[in-house]
Amino acid sequence: MNIQKEPFMDSSYLHQYARSADDSTLFDGAALTDKQRELIAKVDQYGVAWAERAFKHDREASFPIDNYKDLHEMGFLGLCVPERLGGLGADYRTYMLVASRIAYYCGSTANTFNMHNANSLWTADMVDEMELTDEQRASHERNRALHYGNMLQGKIYSQPFSEGSGAAAGKHPFGTIAKRQDGGWLINGKKIFASLSGSADYYGVLCTEDVPEPTYANTMFIAVPADAPGVSIVGDWDPLGMRGTVSRSLLFKDVFVPDTAEMMPQGVYIRAAARYPHMFMTLTPCYIGLAQAAYDFSVAYLRGEVEGVNVKRRMYPTKQVGIAQMYIKLQQAWALFHRVTSEFKAHPSRGERMRAYACQHTIMEYCAEIASAAVRVCGGQAMLKTFPLERMFRDSRCGALMLPWTSEICIDRLGHGLLYNEGERD
Ligand SMILES: Cc1cc2nc3c(=O)[nH]c(=O)nc-3n(C[C@H](O)[C@H](O)[C@H](O)COP(=O)(O)OP(=O)(O)OC[C@H]3O[C@@H](n4cnc5c(N)ncnc54)[C@H](O)[C@@H]3O)c2cc1C
Repeated sequence: MNIQKEPFMDSSYLHQYARSADDSTLFDGAALTDKQRELIAKVDQYGVAWAERAFKHDREASFPIDNYKDLHEMGFLGLCVPERLGGLGADYRTYMLVASRIAYYCGSTANTFNMHNANSLWTADMVDEMELTDEQRASHERNRALHYGNMLQGKIYSQPFSEGSGAAAGKHPFGTIAKRQDGGWLINGKKIFASLSGSADYYGVLCTEDVPEPTYANTMFIAVPADAPGVSIVGDWDPLGMRGTVSRSLLFKDVFVPDTAEMMPQGVYIRAAARYPHMFMTLTPCYIGLAQAAYDFSVAYLRGEVEGVNVKRRMYPTKQVGIAQMYIKLQQAWALFHRVTSEFKAHPSRGERMRAYACQHTIMEYCAEIASAAVRVCGGQAMLKTFPLERMFRDSRCGALMLPWTSEICIDRLGHGLLYNEGERD
């Protein structure tokens, strides 16, 4: 046997690189709390009705307003409002877990619920932990008490930031402008894909303060009342999937809002975004819940347990292989989801940030792959509109398109971020 003799390759680089192995090895998973289990159980009480309504909302491309009445009754419009301000006080991971179960029953409800909760999750503890002036803290306390009060009374908020430019991807300032006026702001601009258009009571708009040579740092987060003069909804809504989100375009023409419309003090949004990057993956629960639903439908279908199907198909080896492959992807996605949602914190490490991109990419792509496999594995009858699977198949394709972390952008950032340390360039 020809065994290589010294000198072997100098492997001392492993001293340094073992740190990246640490990053993958040394992880303590967070156990679910009683509160998280209770909130998920509450969703289960209502969810079947949402799954049944989903057929109609998908067919009509109409907003599932009755589900929001339920969410209000459940206290869930205040899910991420701190307990001291009357809400259920869900933190980031709790929100993510609960939202995944909502999506299990209705994708459009979970997709839009994300937009509603962005207005509370972003503005609660995360802002409290940031450095603010006394004046900023006082005005924020006053403003959010007002908005959280609205939510607790059943008002629905949305979060339109997309404009069809590079702004939503963080490339340049938002084109929607907030101009300072006595006692408030004058808003002008256009938002596309504004989920909940026509159903939200407030549009939580990301816009740019009207200053000379504005940058992304001049971003403002302002809640515009849907009935304010100058707000209009334009364009139609007849998309492939997530049809119940009703994401039409919004126009703002000289819309005056008072100072209390500020959801965050000036300049804080951009600091918060840099400090808490995991906030940009709050749509992952929607798509992992959907993937789980597509998988579970397939198991029930192959076992002959779905109403309207009386032939079992589980005995065919190809079906067994198909379901096993779907399950493997689903478990990979859940494993990343649990890990990454447990790692939420201010200023995560580079490894944690990279893992968040990997998580977003995995869930958005696997959701579409699992739903697509489900159609193939179940077969022709399963894709009739009497079953939810064909809707899940269409809904599942939308996750990868969500800015600012589309699947492509995640790959871009991973590719660069894994090979370059901070400040390095070639
Ligand atoms: C069902 C649904 C609901 C939605 N709801 C909302 C909502 O409530 N609020 C909201 O603000 N938006 C919402 N969106 C919009 C979504 O977040 C995106 O803004 C939208 O899908 C982008 O479409 P676009 O064609 O303008 O993308 P473009 O900006 O043209 O991008 C097209 C693709 O190019 C790639 N790309 C874009 N910029 C970059 C870059 N800088 N670097 C590398 N690659 C890039 C991305 O992969 C992207 O998918 C929703 C979208 C859908 C489908």
